[in-house]
Amino acid sequence: MHEMSIAQSLLDIVLEESRRHDLASVRVVRLQIGAMAGVVPEALTFCFELLTRDTLASGALLEIETTAVVARCSGCERLVPVEDRVFLCPHCGDPLLELVSGRELSVMSIEGETGNDHGSDQSSCGPEHPPGE
Ligand SMILES: [Zn+2]
Repeated sequence: MHEMSIAQSLLDIVLEESRRHDLASVRVVRLQIGAMAGVVPEALTFCFELLTRDTLASGALLEIETTAVVARCSGCERLVPVEDRVFLCPHCGDPLLELVSGRELSVMSIEGETGNDHGSDQSSCGPEHPPGE
């Protein structure tokens, strides 16, 4: 499945970012996906949930924002929003050949919690072996 490999690389990014920012758990991942990226948000969410199950991103919410498709007209060079996949310039009728945006998939932000909370001394397993066993 197409979405599975995307979810996998998404998870890689999320885990790497979490490491960099010392996150103990991830709550929300915000994504921007171009309308032409060929990604079904529901499928991606499903795969992501599956893959994150045993990671610190387990239970993280995937917020997907679909970005508009914009193309540049080859005739008048205007930037034209593409609707309903009609790749014709509304100004001059030329075909829109150059896609400016709409295929991207980018991680906008990752929200999580840091694990800086353990100030207690409960897990001190120092060298306290009783001598003479
Ligand atoms: Zn045009």
